[in-house]
Amino acid sequence: MASRSADVIVVGAGISGLVAARTVLQAGLTPLVLEADTRVGGRILTEEVLPGLSVELGAQWIGDTHHRMFALAAELGVDTYPQYDDGETSYELAGAGVLREKAFHTRFAAELADLQRVLRRLDALAAEVPPDAPWSAPHAAEWDAVTAGAWYDAQGLAPVARELLEICTVGILAVPTVEVSLLHLLFTIQTCGVTAELFAESEGGAQTTRFTGGTGEIPNRLAAQLSDHLVLDAPVQLIEHSAEHVTVTCRGGLVAQGRRVIVAISPALAGRIMYDPPLSGDRDQLTQRAPNASAMKAFFVYDEPFWRAEGLNGQLISSDGPARMSNDTCLPGDDRGVVLLFLEGDQARTYGRWPRADRQAALTAELVRHFGPRAGRPEAYVDGEWTDRQWTRGCYNANFGPLVWTTYGHTLAAPVGAIHWASTDTAIRWSAYMEGAVEAGERAALAVIDEVLN
Ligand SMILES: Cc1cc2nc3c(=O)[nH]c(=O)nc-3n(C[C@H](O)[C@H](O)[C@H](O)COP(=O)(O)OP(=O)(O)OC[C@H]3O[C@@H](n4cnc5c(N)ncnc54)[C@H](O)[C@@H]3O)c2cc1C
Repeated sequence: MASRSADVIVVGAGISGLVAARTVLQAGLTPLVLEADTRVGGRILTEEVLPGLSVELGAQWIGDTHHRMFALAAELGVDTYPQYDDGETSYELAGAGVLREKAFHTRFAAELADLQRVLRRLDALAAEVPPDAPWSAPHAAEWDAVTAGAWYDAQGLAPVARELLEICTVGILAVPTVEVSLLHLLFTIQTCGVTAELFAESEGGAQTTRFTGGTGEIPNRLAAQLSDHLVLDAPVQLIEHSAEHVTVTCRGGLVAQGRRVIVAISPALAGRIMYDPPLSGDRDQLTQRAPNASAMKAFFVYDEPFWRAEGLNGQLISSDGPARMSNDTCLPGDDRGVVLLFLEGDQARTYGRWPRADRQAALTAELVRHFGPRAGRPEAYVDGEWTDRQWTRGCYNANFGPLVWTTYGHTLAAPVGAIHWASTDTAIRWSAYMEGAVEAGERAALAVIDEVLN
C-alpha cells in the first residue's frame, strides 16, 4: 500500500484545490493534492473538437469584477481577450415570435421598465443578506420559506417580463426558480454584487472576458507548479481525523498522512466521503440537501460567423426550444464561426436525455429560427453533459431549496477540527464561479496555514 505525507492534504484538483495547494506551498508548507480524475481542472474543461479549434465544455468567461481571476491569469501568463458583443440579440418570448433586440425593446418597453422595478427590489433585499452568514439576515426565516419562483410570480409582472426573469435566473442557477429559496437567490445576488452584475445588464457582468488558449490553461499551469505535490486517479474515500492529524485513504490504496485536510469539492460530493469520526448530523443533512444543478453546453461550428454580417451578436434569448440562451464563442484569429447554446435546468434534464442526433436537430431548428438558414449547415457539433461525470455530478454549482440556509447553512464552510472546506460552493464572493473557487481555496489555505504555523 502506497503512502505519502504532507502538512496539508487537499482533496480535488479543481481550481479551488489547486489554488489552496499553491497558497500552502508559498507559505513554506508541503501540500499534497489528491485528485479522483485522470486530469486536473474539474468543472473547467477545454477540448479540441476540430484541428486548432477548442471549445470550453465547462467554465469559459470571467467578468470585470473577477479580480482574483484576472490576477491569477496575469501571474500565470495567460492572456485574456474581450467577448465579442457587437450587434443585436435575438428574442423569442411570450409567443411574440422572433424579434431583434431593438424591436423587442420597443414593443415591450413598458413591461421591461416594470421588470427593472423588480430587479431594484431584489437588489434592495439582497443588500440585507450577509454573504458569509445568509441565515442571519433580518428576514432570513421569511425569505428562506418561499421559493424564488413563487416570489417572482407574486410581483405582478407581465408574461414577457416574467419569462425573461426566469430565463436570466435559470441562466445563473441552472435549476428552475421553484427549486431554490428566495434567500438563496438573494445570497447569489449579494455574492456577485447586484442583479445588474449577475444578469449582465451592464458592463461588468460575469461574461466579458475569455482566456487565450482556453480556460484550461489556468488549472494546467497551476498543476505544473505543483508537479510533485499532485496525484491523479486518486479518489478519496475515507478521512480519519483528530484535532491535529488526518489520514486520507484513496481508492487504489494510497494513504496520505497530514496535519490538516482541505476538501475542495462540491458539498454533495463531500458528503460521499466517509469520515471517521463521523461528522455532525447537521453537516450531513446539509450535504444531503445541496444538489448540484443541471447545465450542458452545445457548440455549432460554421465556416464563418455569418450572423455578424447580419448585425447579430450571436446571442438569443428564447422561451421556445431546447436552449434558452446562446453566445458567439469564436476564437480570435480563427475564421470559423462558433455558436454556443446553453441548456439549463429543465432543458438540460429533458434534452440531455435525448439521443445526441435528436438534440442536435432540435437545437439546429432553434438556431435557424433566430439566425437564418445558414445556421442549418454546421461543419461540426459537439456537446458536453456534466451529471454523468462521476467526479462532478452536475453544474454549475450547488443550490439550496427552502429552509436549507436557515437550518443547515452554518455548516457549509465551518471547519470541523482538522477538516476545512473549499470549492466555489463555499465562497462569499462570486460563489458558483471560478472567482469564488479561487477565493474559497485561498480562504481555506490561509486558515490552515495559520493553524499549522501558530
Ligand atoms: C458547463 C459549465 C460552465 C461554466 N461556466 C463558467 C463560466 O463561464 N465562468 C465561471 O467563472 N465559472 C463557470 N463555471 C463554474 C466553474 O467551472 C466552477 O465554479 C469552478 O471551476 C469550480 O471549481 P472548484 O475547484 O470549486 O470545483 P471543481 O472544479 O468541481 O473541482 C473539484 C475537483 O475535485 C475532484 N473530486 C471530486 N470528488 C473527489 C474525491 N472523492 N477525491 C478526489 N478528488 C475528487 C473532481 O474531479 C474535481 O477535479 C461553469 C461550470 C460548468 C460545468
